Amino acid sequence: MSALTELYEQITVCHKCEISKARTNAVPGEGPENAEIMFIGEAPGWNEDKQGRPFVGQAGQFLDKLLASINLDRKKVYITNVVKTRPPDNRDPSPIEIQNCAPWLERQLEIIKPKIIVTLGRYSMAKFFPGKSISKIHGTAVKRDGVIYFAMYHPAAALHQASLRQTLEEDMKKIPRILAEMKSVQEEKPKEPPPQQLNMFG
Ligand code: URA
Repeated sequence: MSALTELYEQITVCHKCEISKARTNAVPGEGPENAEIMFIGEAPGWNEDKQGRPFVGQAGQFLDKLLASINLDRKKVYITNVVKTRPPDNRDPSPIEIQNCAPWLERQLEIIKPKIIVTLGRYSMAKFFPGKSISKIHGTAVKRDGVIYFAMYHPAAALHQASLRQTLEEDMKKIPRILAEMKSVQEEKPKEPPPQQLNMFG
């Protein structure tokens, strides 16, 4: 059994959160184990819950179009979410749900070892770019330990706010260049260590 299949089996029977009782299917993610690019969204919606697959509803159709616009076949990339179970009524995932699901995403990262991680929306951005604002950093890439992190708005945002459609299209078009010039993306400088506390008494 492949490492991903084994992981999917564990995710499917995970009941750490109350919301697991109401789900039709867990939605672990999909794509090849050796994918170079990993897209990480927020949480499954109604369609994803029914099918057990990520990004298959309206937002997913737009994501497919964005991928096609740069000749990326959906089957060649890995697609997953921060939370693997649909929050009822499509509410935002709660901090505890995000925390409970975090080890699954960590394991996916360990297995797949993507070269580029594309965050879709606020929740996955918060994990990889803590404290940043999506309106400021969308369309920008940073490299940490050889992995490139690229932040984008969530595709569903364009369904609610038409002006973001073009922003998403333009940001997606940057990905081929980043892939081609991976080596030229600057490593992020490590943060300055906090100033040493002065011990006045010794
Ligand atoms: N929105 C997400 O964040 N993920 C999905 O899988 C579908 C919609």
